[in-house]
Amino acid sequence: MSSEAPQVYLVLPETKPFPINSLYVHIPFCAGRCSYCDFFSVSARNCPQVFSLEYESSYVDAVLEQTQLWSEKFDAGPFSTIYIGGGTPSVLNEGVLERLVKGLEPYAASGCEWTVEANPESVHKSLLDMLAETKVTRISLGVQTLSHDEWPALQRVGSVEDSKRSIDLVREYPFELSVDVLAGIPQPQGRTEAWQSILLGSLEYLAERVSHISLYDLTLEEGTPLQRQVACGALVSPNADAMAEARDAANALLASRGFQRYEVSNYARSGHECRHNLAYWNMRPYLGVGSGAVSTIQYCDPEEEPMLGTMVRITGRKDSARYIAKPAEIPPEIEYIDRKTALFEFLMMGFRTARGVDTQRISSLFGVDVAQIIPSALARWKPGIVRGRHCIALHTRNFDILNRFLVECLEELDKGGLG
Ligand code: SF4
Repeated sequence: MSSEAPQVYLVLPETKPFPINSLYVHIPFCAGRCSYCDFFSVSARNCPQVFSLEYESSYVDAVLEQTQLWSEKFDAGPFSTIYIGGGTPSVLNEGVLERLVKGLEPYAASGCEWTVEANPESVHKSLLDMLAETKVTRISLGVQTLSHDEWPALQRVGSVEDSKRSIDLVREYPFELSVDVLAGIPQPQGRTEAWQSILLGSLEYLAERVSHISLYDLTLEEGTPLQRQVACGALVSPNADAMAEARDAANALLASRGFQRYEVSNYARSGHECRHNLAYWNMRPYLGVGSGAVSTIQYCDPEEEPMLGTMVRITGRKDSARYIAKPAEIPPEIEYIDRKTALFEFLMMGFRTARGVDTQRISSLFGVDVAQIIPSALARWKPGIVRGRHCIALHTRNFDILNRFLVECLEELDKGGLG
């Protein structure tokens, strides 16, 4: 007899889902474990058996099987955006990664934006030569900082030199290049004054070389080594005022280099915005495959065709061995999202972007007028609100106080604004 808990079988809605045009693929393997990370991934240091050719190959087989079966089940694809993230997809054996990419190619629509995340130390000419022969269009590099002073606190594999070398190398290819950068990396006591100029130095270097920059505020996740170091006083994080000042300075610097802040944490030269992430922020449905990947599926209301009837979120099991054994299994972590929560998610994600919420889409999916469900919040924030054709946005200068605005929106929805 197995001691496993009984499986929960899910009955999915019988109606046809809305078209799904975005695919996320999760590769939960990393060369090491960064001090601040609480994502689902296993590292070569802690779990060397995962890094055998055989295991990686089985994982990729499982991803391809799940993609085939779930694409049929949810009537998903062809995909106009594909994002292979992690973890660190570039740690996969090159031949295995090639098999994954080639195996996914039949699911890509023409003109598909296709991103592969990579860590700088694992980017080499042979990897880029291989990807350049496929439909991949975009490389997203985890740079985080170009400062030798900040680097040690992150406990990342690789080095500042690896980042610079890999940026130069990727630029020799016709890929779009995006980089992730962290703001607010804790420093030893007495070294924090230089913090803002260090960040600006990294951004200045990158703005000359890439077309897309994601600048995230580092959050100290409970239980991570970095959080413990800050808790015991070995490292100090910049305070909220210093963070806000640095964000303002970063905004000004990137604007002067031709970057638009098109989302709270994302900056791009015109035409280089990430379409995959825009699909998330616009609350488009997407399929997530791989261990620990999340899918959001939206179903029509059977009575009122164009309306959103049910929104379902499925989180894959965070256990790669089990995933390999049963890749297409619908896991028990199924979330049915009620109408009010779904509507709030649409507002919350939409207001993160410079374009704002799509009022026409919300009207057709929920049958409500955004201006009439949060009138008080819009009135109170009027000087900071931008209205366009079919959209309402928060002015980008108010992005840093977005949460206060959203709390007011939620309170208003709670009071019955949904109608
Ligand atoms: S490389 Fe990324 S996913 Fe892997 S441990 Fe570091 S931060 Fe986490």
